Amino acid sequence: MKNETLFSNNPSLTSWVEVPVGSDFPIQNLPFGIFKTKYLSPVAGVAIGDFVIDLVYLHENGYFDGLGLPAGIFNQKYLNDFIALGRKKGREVRERVSELLGHDNDELKQNVAARELALIPIQEVQMQIPVRIPNYTDFYSSEEHATNVGSIFRDPKNALLPNWKYLPVGYHGRASSIVVSGTPIHRPKGQLKLADADLPIFSPSRKLDFELEVAFITCNETRLGTSISTKEAEENIFGLVLFNDWSARDIQQWEYVPLGPFLGKNFGSTISPWIVTLDALEPYRVEGPIQAPAVLPYLMCVGNKNFDIVLDVTLVTSQEEKLTLCRSNFKYMYWNMSQQLAHQTVNGCNIQVGDLYASGTISGPSPGSFGSLLESTWNGQRPFKLEDGRVRTFLEDGDTINIKGYAEKNGVRIGFGECKGKIWPAV
Ligand code: MN
Repeated sequence: MKNETLFSNNPSLTSWVEVPVGSDFPIQNLPFGIFKTKYLSPVAGVAIGDFVIDLVYLHENGYFDGLGLPAGIFNQKYLNDFIALGRKKGREVRERVSELLGHDNDELKQNVAARELALIPIQEVQMQIPVRIPNYTDFYSSEEHATNVGSIFRDPKNALLPNWKYLPVGYHGRASSIVVSGTPIHRPKGQLKLADADLPIFSPSRKLDFELEVAFITCNETRLGTSISTKEAEENIFGLVLFNDWSARDIQQWEYVPLGPFLGKNFGSTISPWIVTLDALEPYRVEGPIQAPAVLPYLMCVGNKNFDIVLDVTLVTSQEEKLTLCRSNFKYMYWNMSQQLAHQTVNGCNIQVGDLYASGTISGPSPGSFGSLLESTWNGQRPFKLEDGRVRTFLEDGDTINIKGYAEKNGVRIGFGECKGKIWPAV
């Protein structure tokens, strides 16, 4: 089946499950996640409207018969084994769930007992981290972000380093500290050197920041010594999540030369719990920015590899005051996911199932679209004003950052749910 003709992406589809207007999870989305309830240990589910479908129940009761799924594939605390079956199998399951939820399908709709057991109200579930993440890479693929950071940390006249337009710059991050939305983040402590000081001090970070990112999750295991081409790349990508790469700018600025980010980054990163499949995002492809100079042949791509996904960042203070910090878009990425994966593996580096590859901070062209406080406050020089006259440069204890993302077209909105974290004091 060709992606563009997926039955499940038809904008005119409706479900017998009520989907509130503006929901992130219409029948055209059907993202996968891991949830638990008071009564259920963690299992795989799919979101629709204000409900989660229990995939274990559907599988055990014959609703996936004929798909050749292994027994117990959904009865696990991570999606790794399921996504390891590949894009094609994931597509078949999503198509079947779409069919079962379609307004004219009676299989589940007319079976009241089954419906009660298979559909769980979303407020009764606790979302878990969806995959066990063996490896995490963070790229640096937004030209606007790289230009802003280069200007702030180094030299506005040479903001982009000479390699930047030739390869998707990235570094290997820390997988162990990636947490699911809702997990609090303690303010990190570390070495920092104040602007007018000769020597570093040890202190809680005074420049705690967020980074607005989108990450993709891989569903294949490759052999060491082999590479993935840009043409093959998307077959290795199961789907996308929102990603907040929390950053301590003062720790980062003192430590990052010459080997790059380390303790200023690895104290925590937050992901949204639902993996939105690349299949569901198929209708939202757009052309990426023009790449000049021309890229080397192994980075060349055919077709639209960027995706039009609106991204919003909101700050909620401990006094419940709300402030929109940024509105950006995933389509601004200079380097696309296929190029990132091709570059990651071009030297023979192997990938694993559940690996997470983050985009890097996604900034747009104007200050209102800058994806970090470092950029939007220009390293603290241009504070945000709160309603009561107080100002905000970097994050304070008790602040919550919530990232939302959605693609919208033809009246269909494919959303990601929340990617949220609250700052707790240093321990
Ligand atoms: Mn980052």
